[in-house]
Amino acid sequence: MRFDVVTIFPEYFASPLECSILGRALEGGIVEVGLHNLRDYTTDKHKVVDDYPYGGGGGMVMKPGPLFAAVEALQEQEPRGHVVLLSPQGRTFSQSRAGDLAARERVILICGHYEGVDERVRETLVDEQISIGDYVLTGGEPAALAIIDAVTRLLPGALGDEQAPDNDSFAEGLLEYPHYTRPAEFRGLAVPGMLLSGHHEQIRRWRRKESLRRTKTHRPDLLERAPLTPEDLELLEEIAEEEEVGIDE
Ligand code: SAM
Repeated sequence: MRFDVVTIFPEYFASPLECSILGRALEGGIVEVGLHNLRDYTTDKHKVVDDYPYGGGGGMVMKPGPLFAAVEALQEQEPRGHVVLLSPQGRTFSQSRAGDLAARERVILICGHYEGVDERVRETLVDEQISIGDYVLTGGEPAALAIIDAVTRLLPGALGDEQAPDNDSFAEGLLEYPHYTRPAEFRGLAVPGMLLSGHHEQIRRWRRKESLRRTKTHRPDLLERAPLTPEDLELLEEIAEEEEVGIDE
């Protein structure tokens, strides 16, 4: 899969794209990331990408010309990219949206700045707008990185054999179960005995129950939408009974 990022700060991406799983995925050809400086698509001597807003008011607006020129030039290459404008006004990014993007061959990410982009970009140049949450960043670059990271780790081979994204939080609509590692006791805090038992089936059931318990506690909104199995309903009943007698997590 390939990402093309249109940005006025291509250098912003240098270090994150070299590190860890993302760095390895790029090196291994699992994902490609093209960085395109928007200023290369300007036609004036000063490479200006922004201008004053019509109607007055503070802040600058990104001009449509360079953005259209950049995306049109990128779309001359095959395969055609799915064009995403990073925007706090877009649909909120999620694990399931990451999965949808991971199924695409090519995604073009446009990073805005200042007050945002000229409305005609939103109206006619982009396929969708994505927000990474209800807060306002100074620019689209952190959002583009978050998307590249979340999508790349879903691509086959990106995580290696030892890790799979299937159990991760949100993969099945729930938060993931708690993890422990050595030592078995740390500052008087013991690892739950079940995890030391070696009973694979009971460990699986314990993990599922803890996953349900923490989703119920921290993200009841997710639990309401999650596809629950008959076993999940049974486990939730057990959790409710435990809560009644005061055995909390
Ligand atoms: N004036 C705009 C508004 O209120 O909707 C905010 C502009 S913001 C300062 C500049 C750029 O940062 C945006 O054009 C967008 O590309 C990016 N950005 C800011 N917050 C974002 C978010 N939550 N998700 C994705 N991109 C964001």
